[in-house]
Formats: sequence, structure tokens, C-alpha cells
Amino acid sequence: SSARTPLMAGNWKMNLNHQEAVVLVQKLAWTLSDKRHDYAKAEVVVVPPFTDLRSVQTLVDGDRLSVRYGAQDVSVHESGAYTGEISAGMLAKLGCSYVVVGHSERREHHGETDELVSAKAHAAHRAGMTPIVCVGEGLEVRQAGEHVAHTTAQVAGSLAGFTAEQVAGLVVAYEPVWAIGTGEVATPEDAQEVCAAIRAHVRETFDDAAAEGVRVLYGGSVKAANVAGIMAQTDVDGALVGGASLQADEFGGICRFY
Ligand code: PEP
Repeated sequence: SSARTPLMAGNWKMNLNHQEAVVLVQKLAWTLSDKRHDYAKAEVVVVPPFTDLRSVQTLVDGDRLSVRYGAQDVSVHESGAYTGEISAGMLAKLGCSYVVVGHSERREHHGETDELVSAKAHAAHRAGMTPIVCVGEGLEVRQAGEHVAHTTAQVAGSLAGFTAEQVAGLVVAYEPVWAIGTGEVATPEDAQEVCAAIRAHVRETFDDAAAEGVRVLYGGSVKAANVAGIMAQTDVDGALVGGASLQADEFGGICRFY
């Protein structure tokens, strides 16, 4: 229905050391090479811990795998006295195509604000990578019926300072917090409601081309068994997948999404 290439991104969170990462990426590459299925529809991305990235790079480059990869976070700073942080330049040098910013776990456990998330998105973009900007409401906001207002406000804050032309190339992930890691997947209609609202917000704030270009993902307990209904929605352009991305066959099922 649109020119947007579906994007399936597997967020491994704090799982798998670099040796385990190599095993999973090899299994995933094997799964995606199965000619009985059409895996060509989606762009497939893995998002391992920082310490795995060099090994993933070596494997992907050496075997010319069609899998891309990214990081789970990035510093807003370019270099210097920021102990423990990782710069966008370092990630770009490792061949990262994407950086997840503002994941709900970072907003919750590390106090990340929309302002910081925006700064991180800009840092990634300046270094030539595509930020995957995460937004989404918690259970109380959902129960109060404020989920659209809450989420579009997060989008406004997190995309602040980008031009319409830049936004057309970005990725926004709608992840209702109550559906992350809980097994409680949003219904396809719930996902569509908020993903459509995000696109409408981008249209109002930026322009038509930004709205048509930006890829809006759904995230929250996506599995091979429920991905088809979610992907059938007009404004859902892919999935950000946590738990199910740790198994090659399950994530493979998500990547072919029917
Ligand atoms: C996530 O952490 O981005 C996520 C969607 O997790 P899960 O798929 O495990 O709910």
C-alpha cells in the first residue's frame, strides 16, 4: 500500500555475549536463506548489546549477510570525559545502520526525557545512522484514554529539531509499555490507531513527504503467530521485537510476516 520497506528490528536487550551473538546471527542468516519462504519483503535488523557489535560486524561483512545491525543506545556527546558512554561515531565505525533511542526501559530506569531522546536521535543521525525513536504509553495512561495524546507528545519532543526532509528517513517505534515483555500484545486495531495518529502528527508538524516516508513500527510481544494481523494495518511499517528476536526461527517467522 506504500513505498515504505517493512522493517523488522530485533532488540536483544541485555542478552547474549559476543560468542552467542555470532551463533544467533548465523542461525538467522540460515533461516533467511531458506528459499521455500519469501524473506525479501522486509529489511531485517538485529540490535545486540554494544559488546557484540564488533563480532556481528565481522560476521556480516565476512559472509556478506543481508542482515543489518544497530545499537540499543548512544551518547549525545561526540567524545571526551563521559565515562561508560559510547559515541555515535564509534557505532558508525562498527557499521551500525540504526540506533534505538528512548526505549521505554531507558526512559523508565535511566530517566530519559524526550529532550535527551531527541539529542540522541540527532547524534545518531549526524553520524549517518538512522535513529529508531521509541515512544508509547504506560498502562495508567492507556486506561485513562490518553494514549494518543501522550504518544504524539513524545513524538513531538523526540523529533524536535529535525527537518521534514530528515524525518522522512527516520523510524518511530510505537511500543505501549503494558505490552512489552508481558505477552500482552496490543490488538492490530490498537496498533493501527496509534501508528496512524503518529503519522498524522508528522504530517501536521512536518509535511506530506515526511508522513509518507517515516516508518512507524509496532513493538510489544510481537511473535510469528501474531505478526500478520499487525502488519496488515495501513500505518504499521514493521515491528520492534524483544523476546522473540532471541530465537532465529521465531524471528524468521516475524520477518516473513504472514
Ligand atoms: C521491546 O523491548 O522493544 C519489545 C517490544 O519487547 P517484547 O517483544 O519482548 O515485548
